[in-house]
Amino acid sequence: MNMAQFSALLRRLDHATRLVSPEVATALQRRWDELPEVARTPAQVLGRRSTGCEGTHGVFPQCNFGCRPCYHSTDANRVRIDGPHTIDNVDDQMAFARSVRGPGAYAQLIGGEVSLLDPDDHAAALLAMSANGRVPMSFSHGDFDDDYLRALALGPDGKRRFEQLSFAIHIDSTMQGRRSVPRPVSEAELDGERARVAEMFQRLRRDHGITSYLAHNMTVTPDNLDEVAGVIGRNRHIGYRMFSFQPAAYLGHENRWQPGYRGFGDDDVWARVEDGAGTRLPFRALQFGDLRCNRVTWGGFVGDRYVPVLDDVDSRDLAARDRFFEAFSGPLGHGPLLGRSLRIARAVASHPSVVPAAIGVAGRFLGRAGGLRAMGGGIHPTTFVMHRFIDAADTAAAWNHLERGTVPPEELIGTVERLQACAYSMPHPEVGQMVPACVQHAVLDPIENAQLVELLPRRKATEPSADRE
Ligand code: SF4
Repeated sequence: MNMAQFSALLRRLDHATRLVSPEVATALQRRWDELPEVARTPAQVLGRRSTGCEGTHGVFPQCNFGCRPCYHSTDANRVRIDGPHTIDNVDDQMAFARSVRGPGAYAQLIGGEVSLLDPDDHAAALLAMSANGRVPMSFSHGDFDDDYLRALALGPDGKRRFEQLSFAIHIDSTMQGRRSVPRPVSEAELDGERARVAEMFQRLRRDHGITSYLAHNMTVTPDNLDEVAGVIGRNRHIGYRMFSFQPAAYLGHENRWQPGYRGFGDDDVWARVEDGAGTRLPFRALQFGDLRCNRVTWGGFVGDRYVPVLDDVDSRDLAARDRFFEAFSGPLGHGPLLGRSLRIARAVASHPSVVPAAIGVAGRFLGRAGGLRAMGGGIHPTTFVMHRFIDAADTAAAWNHLERGTVPPEELIGTVERLQACAYSMPHPEVGQMVPACVQHAVLDPIENAQLVELLPRRKATEPSADRE
């Protein structure tokens, strides 16, 4: 090897082990610059570790359930499911997301109901998302069977198409049309379905070696608010790694709104989530966007005890978080394992103070868990999330100000700030914008679906209504 070859090798090694590529660094900086002042807190994850989550839109709007509320517009079910349309548009949207948000972002394949897609089209859409540097997750009501899951996970040749599948499974009593419980009146009636879905994914792992990440989603209304704790308490050990709660908003399909959504607040929901977890859930150590939109606690069940990784009233944990942010930026889980390991090793070598900080966090976690003996049964990692969409009227008014660059009235400032700090947005390559999901549902879905009804009308003679309302 001559000197020039040796220098080129060193440059390649330097590039491969840089924790943050120029593409990621630019995307993170752009996201940070977009945040309103109120969101630039020491706990903020956006612009430091992540550019936010993403979702698809207008790619399969149809659903065969009737939920109250439903965040899709009235025309959604007049659009037929069309595989080529789905795959092409998912690819375009994700390519645009990559161009502005860099690689490694979590992205939901969301419509509509994803299991109405042919399994081959569903698989192709997930692969298109991965090819564009996204970490995909399918969003479903879960009312499908092993046959569908296997046809998605395995190709026609019987070989695995994926090492792991991620699904957000929405199961709650606001939904009507589930085959086994078409009109539930309580959350407890749906526990059998929660277990059935988790067991399908366990069989997929046992029979084909494909692992899964399952999130459980639940819309919260005045009717099921007091059932939140029970849902967690009864289902926390059956395989879900995330429990995510969405307080209902006046958004989407107006005929499906119910009274009382404004009658309870974030603290009311979070108190029930804490009851279910059996402990206080610190959500201020790490902030994902705006706390009025998202509360998140990362941790795990050690036996029956839930143990958060970071406690937001422990200054040692907050100092460790700061060390971690200094050492690591960008999505750590992206790319091949060897490259990731090298990048992490290099970051640790340049920020050695992260080592005692990590040891301290682990020691305090162990202490909260009850010591080494308590850990004998292992940890079931579990994340608790609350995501509160904004009502359509406020969203539309605030978005209007943002689009026109005008000063919002006092009562809309909070909504404007939330949209600017949005942690869940949808790519619009045709206008070069990432749009908050609230805006998508409040402002853009009705226009988009009216166009899709023209482009992809349901074939009435051959396609029976999918609605099970
Ligand atoms: S989608 Fe809406 S509620 Fe969710 S993070 Fe974005 S602005 Fe907040």
